[in-house]
Amino acid sequence: MPRLKTMRAESAGGVVYRLEDGVVQVVLVGRTAQNTWFLPKGTPLPGEPREQTAARETREETGLEVRVLEPIGSIQYWFVADRTRIHKTVYYYLMEPVGGDLSRHDPEYDRVAWFPIDQAIAVLTYANDADIVRRAGALIERRLAARAAS
Ligand code: ATP
Repeated sequence: MPRLKTMRAESAGGVVYRLEDGVVQVVLVGRTAQNTWFLPKGTPLPGEPREQTAARETREETGLEVRVLEPIGSIQYWFVADRTRIHKTVYYYLMEPVGGDLSRHDPEYDRVAWFPIDQAIAVLTYANDADIVRRAGALIERRLAARAAS
């Protein structure tokens, strides 16, 4: 069998959070038929800065207008498509909603929902996405502590 060629790919996405009755919640997107849940993310437009891609894709897939707060970190994975091995890196940012509505999400995913952060970690389809939400949780705790102290 001929060797597969290798390519790199990059996407950017977000962990959008809110505080509801003292509980941190985050937004996930998913497909009902496969019972999957993911973080919103997508591919940069030509020349688009990474943070802008993250905010645009999060807005499109969740229906929420968002403000980017800080980087969370990145994940990497491999997959094969069109006889090519793709090494993909996805950069995630912590975000807060500033408007919009979940009902305005685009058709890429058929379900979009707020989850308490522990539940989000439990239902996410990929362990590396769950790790990103854990890291986001630590950043959120730090932000809430700083706010309480000021
Ligand atoms: P994008 O949303 O960035 O435009 P895409 O929808 O074209 O990307 P991916 O979501 O990267 O593509 O999916 C490509 C392949 O990688 C699929 O087989 C998918 O199941 C797998 N995949 C997606 N996310 C992850 C992940 N976090 N960890 C491991 N594999 C993943």
